[in-house]
Amino acid sequence: MRYISTRGQAPDLAFEDVLLTGLARDGGLYVPDAWPQLTPQAIAAVAELSFADAAATLIAPFAGDIDRDALSEMTRRAYARFDHQAVAPLRELGDGHWLLELFHGPTLAFKDIAMQLLGQLFDHVLAQRGERVTIVGATSGDTGSAAIEACRDREAIDIFVLYPHNRVSEVQRRQMTTVAADNVHAIAIEGTFDDCQALVKAMFNDHAFRDRQRLSAVNSINWARVVAQIVYYVTAAAALGAPDRQVSFAVPTGNFGCAYAGYAAARMGLPMARLIVATNRNDILHRFFDGGGSYQLGPVHATQSPSMDIQVASNFERLLFDLAGRDGATVRGWMAELSEAGGFRVGNAELAEARRWFDSHRVDEDSTSETIRAVHADSGVLVDPHTAVAVRAARELAPAAPVVVLGTAHPAKFPDAVERATGVRPALPAHLADLYQREERFTVLPNTLAAVEAHIEDIQSKA
Ligand SMILES: *Cc1c(COP(=O)(O)O)cnc(C)c1O
Repeated sequence: MRYISTRGQAPDLAFEDVLLTGLARDGGLYVPDAWPQLTPQAIAAVAELSFADAAATLIAPFAGDIDRDALSEMTRRAYARFDHQAVAPLRELGDGHWLLELFHGPTLAFKDIAMQLLGQLFDHVLAQRGERVTIVGATSGDTGSAAIEACRDREAIDIFVLYPHNRVSEVQRRQMTTVAADNVHAIAIEGTFDDCQALVKAMFNDHAFRDRQRLSAVNSINWARVVAQIVYYVTAAAALGAPDRQVSFAVPTGNFGCAYAGYAAARMGLPMARLIVATNRNDILHRFFDGGGSYQLGPVHATQSPSMDIQVASNFERLLFDLAGRDGATVRGWMAELSEAGGFRVGNAELAEARRWFDSHRVDEDSTSETIRAVHADSGVLVDPHTAVAVRAARELAPAAPVVVLGTAHPAKFPDAVERATGVRPALPAHLADLYQREERFTVLPNTLAAVEAHIEDIQSKA
């Protein structure tokens, strides 16, 4: 399988190169040149496999150039650190609705499912090539800790994560600063999340520095992250009777990575009744699906579900590419309008195609809290605010049962919002119970490119 850019002007690449490259050279995102197809027998067979073996089986067609046994080894190692045997178990919420618990990884959010495998894949490919990389990233909380846990103790990787000093929650900070691994470096920037992002971008644009340090990224547009997220759609559907039964999914959405993976599963032949994009107040995607195919930037609002407080949903470009009949020039035109005029509108045919695959719903802050309360009252289950947005969307749109709601964070990751709604403060799981006693290690730096680059050069010269 080869990978092609959504903007049609970058060379096509093999899986291993897409893994290490991230963004295509023409500014586009890489997608497979065709969707591998799942037979009904293959879907049914997934129900008999462990999560790790299902992952290796489902990912293999996308990763043709990686040795199949090595891939199985990597998925087993990646999911061995999850503290539930099923890795992504289903829990019944009532009325044919099921919660897919994707938060049993080391940092309590669904990003671990893709990141843990990404760390293994990076190490494997880099070892084969005899190369090292320096991963740099900016985080407002969740992604940074998931990336750190995925890269810790990996031979061929050093990771530097920039976060805004005194502007992330204590749980989030401690998950980044208490990791005792020599290759992990947490940097608190005296500035905002946007400053951190600008610094990372500036490091990538400093080509001499970028080449000297062999900079790389593990952000949400990395194709390998998307592919790892296809797995749990198939395992959940198979557990609930696919291919003989059609399953609906409700997905809390920010950068559209998780929702796009559901679309990919459907394109691969997984029978799906409905796929619901659930947004918080930051509803650019809901406005697109519901409002006539117009994709218009607006201001970012802070909500109880901060990992979805996003305006530009980066992975959406991958769907746009398919809506455009896989024509890179059309996507380039839309993206140019987005950066010049702050928005664009697709045609009626493209919108109809989008709505063939997706429904959408927006959930406001009060409804989110009310849903956390109601789920707890009805079923005794505590859900985090991101998950609650999807639960609410599933209840409002009421697609055909069974409905799988993606549980993207452990309630203890957002204890204040959960306690406000239910009066119950969720406890951290055992493997993080001593988080508040662990020793922290981080460096505070001023918000300047020179300071950050000097710090990285200094540490790397001693390594
Ligand atoms: C990242 C994140 C999301 C949004 O996922 P996308 O793939 O970016 O749409 C939802 N919930 C939680 C808890 C997250 O960390």
